[in-house]
Amino acid sequence: MEGRIDEAQMAALFMACVWRGMTFEEAHALTDAMVRSGETVTFDRSRGIIVDKHSSGGVSDIISLAAVPLAAACGARVAKLSGRALGHTGGTIDKLEAIPGFNAALSLDAFVRQVERVGCAIAAQTQALVPADKRIYNLRDRTGTVPSMGLIAASIVSKKIACGAHAIVFDVKTGPASFTPEPDQARELAHWVVEICKGFGRKAIAFVTDMHQPLGRTVGTGIEIVEARDLLRSCHPEVSKDPEVTLRHRSGQAPGRGTELTLKITAALLDASEIAGGEERARQALNDGSGYAKLVEMVEAQGASRSALEGMELDAKPLTVKAAQSGFVHAIDVVHLGNAGRRLSQNDKLGGLFICAQIGDRIEAGQPLARVYGADKEHVRNLEASFKISATPAEPPKLIYETVSS
Ligand code: URA
Repeated sequence: MEGRIDEAQMAALFMACVWRGMTFEEAHALTDAMVRSGETVTFDRSRGIIVDKHSSGGVSDIISLAAVPLAAACGARVAKLSGRALGHTGGTIDKLEAIPGFNAALSLDAFVRQVERVGCAIAAQTQALVPADKRIYNLRDRTGTVPSMGLIAASIVSKKIACGAHAIVFDVKTGPASFTPEPDQARELAHWVVEICKGFGRKAIAFVTDMHQPLGRTVGTGIEIVEARDLLRSCHPEVSKDPEVTLRHRSGQAPGRGTELTLKITAALLDASEIAGGEERARQALNDGSGYAKLVEMVEAQGASRSALEGMELDAKPLTVKAAQSGFVHAIDVVHLGNAGRRLSQNDKLGGLFICAQIGDRIEAGQPLARVYGADKEHVRNLEASFKISATPAEPPKLIYETVSS
């Protein structure tokens, strides 16, 4: 942090971590050093439990955007420090900053006051909070040194400890688009993050969840805000743009994987906060609009307006990626879609992808596989090849593989 170590040397160290691996003790020590690179927040435990949630990095991972306000609407107090896009995965801060006027650079004071007043805040790292992660994260993104279990664990857990949460819920991804593609690696990372938290005296639970396909329906930045916003309004981005309709519960509509995991993670946040009701309580806050009201309150507290959030609408004329043949969707190249979404949203904050097909779906030739939004959509090639279609039926992957808790 004093700038005495050349960035090239730092990058070489990270590459060594990727190739040679790190021990648990090394990951723990790095976490500790990163926490101490800045200030830390302390919340008075006698005034209530503070919880937090973090994902190890996914594509179409809208969970924080929906679960944080949902849990707060149920009475939880959520203090969340989030990251930016890393490799092919999206960053919650980039997504929130796509809302015109949204301020993720909160001072420590403002962060704490907002959690006390609103019940939730999502902020970015600053020079005050875990500045080492800010630098290391950026360097890892530029040098292809993201997939190291020790670096990921230290990056994730340092942010959570510095932010003062008493209990933390982790979502550790596994599958080809995860930084821990093999379930065994993800399981080990889940154990590491839970154990490191324990070493800092914090309670933790980690879900190992699937990343064989995009989690939600959209890939990008602002487009994922639209999805999360409309999920909280119990509506699908392409179903209705009428707030009257979106606020009503659409009974009978099967929940998508994004909704299912949002409810699971919200329930875990409530459980960690010692609030009864679990998934049922979370579902109630989804259906009665209180989760949405809390999202609006959080967005307003962080400088954006309700009309800015509600004014985010997708281009009415996206390009459509169509299936070349009939059959069943067997696999999806999520890394390719993640990179395409990241590229599309660079010049146009509402640019990105809407994914129409999931693994296991029966598709007819000519049916849409994805819709492409954004200024440079002409440049997105080979998207059709990201969907592997075969004649035989395919099983959708399960959503949650395992739960690890302290
Ligand atoms: N999220 C983080 O905050 N850090 C990582 O290294 C990966 C995902």
